[in-house]
Amino acid sequence: MKNKNLIGALALVLLTAAILGGIYWKNRTVPENTSYLEFLQMVEENQIAEVTLTDGAWIKFKLVDSGLEYLTENPRNPALKEELLKKNIPVAEGSLTTGKSVAGNAASIVFFCAVLFFVYRASNRAPMKSAMALNVTDASASQENSLCFDDIAGNEEAKDSVEDIVDFIRNPDKYARYGARMPRGVIFYGPPGTGKTLMAKAIAGEAGAPFYAVSGSDFVQMYVGVGASRVRELFQKARADRKAVIFIDEIDALGKKRSSNPQGGNDEREQTLNALLTEMSGFASGEGIVVIAATNRLDTLDEALLRPGRFDRQVEIGLPDLNARRSILNLHQKNKPISGAVNMNDLARQTVYFSGAMLENLLNEAAIFAAKRAADNITLEDIDKAYYTVVAGSEKKDRSGAAQKERQITAYHESGHALAAKFLSPENMVAKITIIPSTKGAGGFCVNIPPDKMYYTKKELESQIMIHFAGRAAEEIIFGADNVTTGASNDFEKARSLIQDYVMKYGMGKSLLYSEEGAREECRTLLEDLYIKTKKFLISRRDLLNAIAEELLRKETLTEGDLNQLVEAA
Ligand code: ATP
Repeated sequence: MKNKNLIGALALVLLTAAILGGIYWKNRTVPENTSYLEFLQMVEENQIAEVTLTDGAWIKFKLVDSGLEYLTENPRNPALKEELLKKNIPVAEGSLTTGKSVAGNAASIVFFCAVLFFVYRASNRAPMKSAMALNVTDASASQENSLCFDDIAGNEEAKDSVEDIVDFIRNPDKYARYGARMPRGVIFYGPPGTGKTLMAKAIAGEAGAPFYAVSGSDFVQMYVGVGASRVRELFQKARADRKAVIFIDEIDALGKKRSSNPQGGNDEREQTLNALLTEMSGFASGEGIVVIAATNRLDTLDEALLRPGRFDRQVEIGLPDLNARRSILNLHQKNKPISGAVNMNDLARQTVYFSGAMLENLLNEAAIFAAKRAADNITLEDIDKAYYTVVAGSEKKDRSGAAQKERQITAYHESGHALAAKFLSPENMVAKITIIPSTKGAGGFCVNIPPDKMYYTKKELESQIMIHFAGRAAEEIIFGADNVTTGASNDFEKARSLIQDYVMKYGMGKSLLYSEEGAREECRTLLEDLYIKTKKFLISRRDLLNAIAEELLRKETLTEGDLNQLVEAA
């Protein structure tokens, strides 16, 4: 295909050159050259009808009698024009366009365009097509399935902080009358799947305005200028509606902080961003149009975007807390036949750090498992299986493949963590312990969530380190020092980082100030002491350690309630 086009290009170029050459030779009207003296004589004898002074090296003149044109050298004498005018000879100033140069210029332009066009087509066939297609923005206003705030569970603070925006979209004139400058740009920031898109849709739904959704990355194209024209097109559409919510997901693609390298700029991105800011500042006062942008990381955005009059309202949409998780689960279980044995409160407690999207996904995956079994309803087992799919990729199909020994080691390792967390840091919550391996490779996990605090005491930091050590310590106690596994590497990393902070950042070691060597030595001694203390603690609760591990091996997963029961029974 490429070769064909190149041959076509060459053929066209040759043809154009031949035609233009023919025209040129046929209509050759090139003025003859004469000497400057001859020219002056002809001026004296009134033989000249008109003169063109060029800014180059030539004077062109036309004879009265024959109408023929001649060229002579231009001495660039500033007095010449006046002399000629005094003799009533019209003088024009301009460039020298002879038949030759017209033909020459035309030929080069056609040549250039032809080459450009064909080379471009030959090498870039597909992208050209897509660049054309991009002129039509695919953002489409959707009012069907319009959402409202009740479709969002939790996120109460965020809802509160956008309520006035809904009112503004509904009645822009009300705010204009008071001279209030409403935010035309709002940024929603927070982890993925927390409902940013949902919130933007609900604002449009509540305000009864069309919703236009695009992604920042759609704008950033290879072709300079395409993004900017897409922005203008999008705003044109929205303006035609008078009120609208324009949602730009992944605004980072457009508005990332500029790199410190001055050559690192991206023209296309900057042009698009400028077009966006220009459009935003050009809203008329009666228009109820709001631009909502979403990002996972506010700190990566260029400050220019966040200035007053731009995206000057920033709303955090964070991970749901326990209550919010409970209401998100309740919302999404509505159309699902969930078994009465499933306790949504428990599920909410076990899903710390889950986003709204993960919770929705959890119930959906569970429903799929139940549907596959053609069961009457969605059971706890379905939800359990779904839990691992959502948390750690899909559950390994062949769990029997995991050797019994490995299961045992994992069970003791996780029981060690759980036991230490329960006793050394009772304010921590052990949400779930499991030995089910996942495709992501984790042998099992124990969710141990330290409560949010402003400060941690020295004792609390030591306990944290001991909780990290308790997995390996349990392995050693039960299976012997030679049989410990690599499963603790992550735990050690965390312990090391904590002890470094403990000694160097918080000055909790023996001394406040250390040399680098001294600090390293202190960290090592402290870690060794804490490891021995952890082992001692587990040995003193060995029966309980056994009980938890055995229960884990039996049930594969223990909840906080199960753990509490075992502790109480001990
Ligand atoms: P991303 O940053 O990945 O674009 P997002 O924050 O825009 O994600 P959404 O696309 O709004 O997240 O959420 C995905 C889905 O998760 C929603 O369609 C909804 O089903 C569910 N969801 C998320 N948060 C909530 C919530 N607070 N209430 C109810 N459902 C929620």
